[in-house]
Amino acid sequence: MRTVDVVIVGASLSAAAAAKRLVDAGLETVILERKQLPRHKICSGILSPRGHRFLLENFGPLPREALHEPTACRGVTFHFPSMVSMPMDFFGGTTPHLHRKYSDYWAIKQSGAEVHDQTSFAGLHDHGDHVLVHARKNGEPVEYRARQVIGADGPSSLVIRAIYPDYPQQIPWFFVGQKFHDIIECPLDTQYFHFWFHPELGHYTWSHARDGRQIVGVGFKRGDNFKSKHENVVKYLDEKHGVRLKPHTDDEGCAENFGPSLINRYVFGKGNVLITGQASGFLNMIGEGMSCALHSGAISGEAVVEARLRNRPAQDLYRRMIASEVRRTSDQWNPLKVAFDRPHEADFPAALMALSWRDRAKVLRDMWRFIVLYKEFKWGRQIFRAAMQRPLIGGYPMRRWL
Ligand SMILES: Cc1cc2nc3c(=O)[nH]c(=O)nc-3n(C[C@H](O)[C@H](O)[C@H](O)COP(=O)(O)OP(=O)(O)OC[C@H]3O[C@@H](n4cnc5c(N)ncnc54)[C@H](O)[C@@H]3O)c2cc1C
Repeated sequence: MRTVDVVIVGASLSAAAAAKRLVDAGLETVILERKQLPRHKICSGILSPRGHRFLLENFGPLPREALHEPTACRGVTFHFPSMVSMPMDFFGGTTPHLHRKYSDYWAIKQSGAEVHDQTSFAGLHDHGDHVLVHARKNGEPVEYRARQVIGADGPSSLVIRAIYPDYPQQIPWFFVGQKFHDIIECPLDTQYFHFWFHPELGHYTWSHARDGRQIVGVGFKRGDNFKSKHENVVKYLDEKHGVRLKPHTDDEGCAENFGPSLINRYVFGKGNVLITGQASGFLNMIGEGMSCALHSGAISGEAVVEARLRNRPAQDLYRRMIASEVRRTSDQWNPLKVAFDRPHEADFPAALMALSWRDRAKVLRDMWRFIVLYKEFKWGRQIFRAAMQRPLIGGYPMRRWL
C-alpha cells in the first residue's frame, strides 16, 4: 500500500489546479486516472478569459499542440427561433480553443504531481485520521492511504457515489452528444461558438468549427434519441442557416449533471473527502466548465494546505473558501444578476441593446419559451429564492450543499 498526503481522483483541469497548490506546499500528491494519458475528453474546448488567465498564471503559456484549429475563439453567438442572431465578444479579446487531450495532460504535468494512469478509483473508507482508497490498475487491486482525498472525477463521479450512494437518483441527468461533419458550405462564423435557444431542437444545441470540420451537438434529458435529435438539428441548420454538411464521420457523447449550479445544490464532500470541479456541480452559462473547474480545484488544494497549517478540518475550511466560486458560478444563472449586473464574460446586455426594439422583444420572448422547456425540473422557484437571498446574505446559503 502506498501512503501519501493526498490522493486526487481524475487527471483533468480541476485535478491539475488542486495538485499545483498541494505540490507547491510540499505535500506528496498522487493523481489517479482511469484512462491512459494523454486521454481524450469530450469538450468544445472554448475557454473563458478567466480560465485562460488561470492557465497562464499557474502553468505558463500553452504549447501549440494543446490547441485546435481555429486556435482562438472571439466569443459566443446566440441564435433564436425568430432568426435574430447576437454575436458577443469575450471581454479582453480572444481565448484559446483547447485540445483537451493535450491541454489537460500539459496542465497535469505542469502541476508536478505524481500520476498513476490506467488506475480506476473503486471505493474508499474514511477512518477519520486517514482515508483508504481502493483502485484497480490493469484489473489488479491497488490501495492508497492518504490524509485527504480530492474527487476531481467529473460529472459521473464515483467518489461522490462512494460517500453519497443515493446522489445519482437525486438529480436529473442529461445526455450531450456531438457529431463531426465534413463541410460543403457553412456560413456560421468560425470565430464564434454558436448556441441555439430553440426549445424544439433540444435543451442545449450548439455548433462550431474544429480542425476543418463542423461539430453539431445537442443536449437533452437522458433517455431521448441522439440520432433523431441530431438529424433534426442538421436539418434545421440547413434550412434556416444554409449550413450544408456531409454525413457525420464520428460521434461521441456523455452524461451531464447540469443543474446544481443553477439551484445552489453543490456537492463538496464529507469528512476527509473533498469534491471539486464539475463533480461538485460547477458549470457556467452555456456549459462552460473549465474555468470553474480550475478555480474550484485550486481552492480544494488550498483548503487542504490550510487545514494542515492550522490543524483544522479540511472540509470546514473548503466549504468556507469555496463560497467565492459558488457566488461566481451561481451568479451567472441568477436572473437579478443577469438583469442588473455583468456576471458573464461576454456582454449580453450590450448585445441586446444593440438590437432594434422589435428584435429585443423577439429575443426576450424566445428566451422565455426556451426557459419553459426546463419547467419539469422545478428549478424556477429555487432559482428565484436563491436570487432573493443573494443580496441579503452576500452569497448563496451553504446549508443547501451536500
Ligand atoms: C460536449 C461538451 C462540450 C463542452 N464544452 C466546453 C467548453 O467549450 N468550454 C468549457 O469550459 N467547458 C466545456 N465543457 C465542460 C467541461 O468539459 C467540464 O466542465 C470540465 O472538463 C470539468 O473538468 P473536471 O476537472 O471537473 O472534470 P473532467 O474534465 O470531467 O475530468 C474528470 C477526469 O476524471 C477521470 N475519471 C473519471 N472517473 C474516474 C475513476 N473512477 N478513476 C480515475 N479517474 C476517473 C476522467 O477520465 C477524467 O480524466 C463541455 C462538456 C461537454 C460534455
